[in-house]
Amino acid sequence: MTNSLKNRVIIVCVGLVLLTTVVSLFSFWWSTSQFNEKKVTQDINVAENVYKQYLTAKESLLLTAAKVLTSDFGFKQAVATRDADTISSVLYNHSQRINAELMLLLDLSGKLISSNKPNQEFSNDLEQMMNELLTNAEQSNFVVLDNDLYQVILLPVRAPRTIAYSLVGFKITDEVATELKNLTNMDVSFIAEQDELVRSSLLSRPSPFSPNDYFYQATTSRIFGEQVIYRNRNLHLASLEGHSVNVLLSADLTQSYTEFERLFFTIILLAALTIVIGVVASSLLANNLTMPLSQLANLARQFARGNYSVDSMSNKQSNEIKTLIDAFRNMGNDINEREQQISFAAKHDTLTGFYNRSAMLEVLNDSLAENQEYTLVAIDIKGLRHINDKLGPRVGDDCLKAVACRIAAFSDELGGFHARIGGDEFLTVFPTSSSLNLKRGISGLMAQLEAPYTLQKLKINLRFSAGVVTYPAQGTLADDLMRRVLIAVDGAADEHENIHHYQEGEDEEHLESLLIIDELKQAIAEDDGQLFMTYQPKLNMATQKIDKAESLIRWQRKNGSWVSPELFIDLAEQSGLIVELTEWVIATVVKQVGQWQQAGIFMQAAINVSAQDIAYPGFHANLLHVLKSNSVAPALITIELTERDMIENEEKGIQALENLKAIGVKISLDDYGVGQTSLGRLKMLPIDELKLDKCFILKLDQSEKDQFIVRSTITLGHQLGFSVVAEGVETRESLEILHDLKCDHIQGYYLSRPLKADLFEQWLEQYNELA
Ligand code: C2E
Ligand code: CA
Ligand code: CA
Repeated sequence: MTNSLKNRVIIVCVGLVLLTTVVSLFSFWWSTSQFNEKKVTQDINVAENVYKQYLTAKESLLLTAAKVLTSDFGFKQAVATRDADTISSVLYNHSQRINAELMLLLDLSGKLISSNKPNQEFSNDLEQMMNELLTNAEQSNFVVLDNDLYQVILLPVRAPRTIAYSLVGFKITDEVATELKNLTNMDVSFIAEQDELVRSSLLSRPSPFSPNDYFYQATTSRIFGEQVIYRNRNLHLASLEGHSVNVLLSADLTQSYTEFERLFFTIILLAALTIVIGVVASSLLANNLTMPLSQLANLARQFARGNYSVDSMSNKQSNEIKTLIDAFRNMGNDINEREQQISFAAKHDTLTGFYNRSAMLEVLNDSLAENQEYTLVAIDIKGLRHINDKLGPRVGDDCLKAVACRIAAFSDELGGFHARIGGDEFLTVFPTSSSLNLKRGISGLMAQLEAPYTLQKLKINLRFSAGVVTYPAQGTLADDLMRRVLIAVDGAADEHENIHHYQEGEDEEHLESLLIIDELKQAIAEDDGQLFMTYQPKLNMATQKIDKAESLIRWQRKNGSWVSPELFIDLAEQSGLIVELTEWVIATVVKQVGQWQQAGIFMQAAINVSAQDIAYPGFHANLLHVLKSNSVAPALITIELTERDMIENEEKGIQALENLKAIGVKISLDDYGVGQTSLGRLKMLPIDELKLDKCFILKLDQSEKDQFIVRSTITLGHQLGFSVVAEGVETRESLEILHDLKCDHIQGYYLSRPLKADLFEQWLEQYNELA
């Protein structure tokens, strides 16, 4: 919350207002105090001038009075004749006229002759004072006489020679100071420091009173702390040596402090007001700014929930916000559109527009809730890979589209739905009306699908296999039904029947198979002895020596049970695991042959491989690598491949076999006789050995038919340049027949069952001893 945009806007605005206020307060304070300072100084200057003029006026008054007195003829005569009474009355009259408190007549030596007040006596040394006044350049001087301060002037009385001196003076009293204060609005204090005399306008004074201490030190407490009350200026007055007189002008600052404070508080008040207005205004602004933002945030949340309609926004927005809302609206529409596209794409196959597998599961799940029987038909196009390979993927895609079209036409009519569940696999689901209709219906569908297609001006025939599962009889859950219908269609492909109806138990078998594949994968990866090789000897009929052995794999599971190689090899082929398994077999067998070689046992080994192994691009390189690293000659290894496997991927496979043959590996055609290899084809195959299937050998001694077949096959093989092996020899009689028929090698229980390597070695030793 503290981090919200609104709060930030408010903080910034209020911060700005505060900053402005503080700055203006400070500048106000600075300029005001500066102004005050100037004003006080000015006031003091004015006061000083006023004061000086006052003194000058007084001085000239004194001068005039003294001149008048000293030029008064009667006075001069009275002085000359020392007529004391006359002098005294003249002095008195004159002093009255000009209001001079002091008017003395002194003789040339400075002795007092007469004064304006009768019987006046002074404690001061008048003679010394007169001498000093005479030598002093100033017109008037301030002197202290009998504890009173006077401004005095001394003038000679000439007749025409100087016969006496007159001293005229004004008394400086507290009243004079007060009068000056009234003129200047400033306290005035006359201070005669050495004479310890003070005359001041300050009427209520502390005692003892020293203006210097008082005016300089007096403070008053204000809001900014203790402040001096007075601003002072000290002026030196003309005075006698050792009797200095100063005047102290003291401006009272209280008033300006008060004014300053009043102004200060006004400004503070204004600032507070501004801040309040700032807060209100900025929160309004922030609201204005953030409201659309939070509305847009709501909108985004609404989008997240999948609701893309924008209508709840008010229209009182600024242009920018309106543009933003418009952009949001467009974005909502775009997202909506794209989401629909995506969700369609997520649920549908792009090529055919059918549901995909996962969507089909959902749809199936939803539909199954209804009280209705359904039939699921999985349809696999046989050999689509060949069409892709030979005619190109464009034609392949067209095939898929055309097939989809026919499936849709069929299931739409029945009110069903359909999906493409694999590269060449479709699934259609439709309500079942009656079982009689069902069989005919599916056959009809297959017939429709197998009718020739004309694509890109090509006439194409497609073959199909179909798996059928019914709901609810053969499963109630969508998952189970889907799995079972796929098992059924795989079954159809395996059994080479067109339509396979799912049979009870196939699912379990399938699950068991998956389990086995999983375990086998682990057994290969861990190589912990669950898998091992056995070797079955092949007897060379010409030399009566055992010079070959067929390697046969065995698997004993961790739980001790055996899995037949036919079963797990088949599963490994179906799951593609065979490639890994064969790599393991090759590594194990070649290593074994290498070890025998080192032990002086010359033994060729046959390894069974499947069509997938041969087709696997890394097969050749791997075999070569293993042979090299075990120092085993390629000629010691025979690859056994059944007729069916050899035909399965014709050209590529044959090329691979030829490459093997080229490095010296021997090729054997296993289980010969049960397949349909024509003689023409047989001639083309790069093989060294024909291996007669054991079905002709097992009962050879009892069946003339078998003998006939075996005889002609051996002859044929020899004529084509192949060596011939018979497997499944269980009796001495069969062996002898084969000997007579010039079979090159024989293999079978009569000699030995397949044995682990160590047992095989023991058996071989025994056999060689007996021979
Ligand atoms: P196959 O290649 O035709 O192997 C010959 C089968 O006949 C072996 O069965 C062998 O034990 C059996 N057999 C040999 N002599 C006689 C006999 O006198 N009488 C009878 N009744 N049977 C005899 P096995 O070992 O159960 O192998 C079955 C099939 O499993 C093999 O058929 C082969 O197709 C496959 N297989 C075995 N080992 C491997 C392997 O390492 N790799 C691959 N890809 N397939 C293997
Ligand atoms: Ca074999
Ligand atoms: Ca065989």
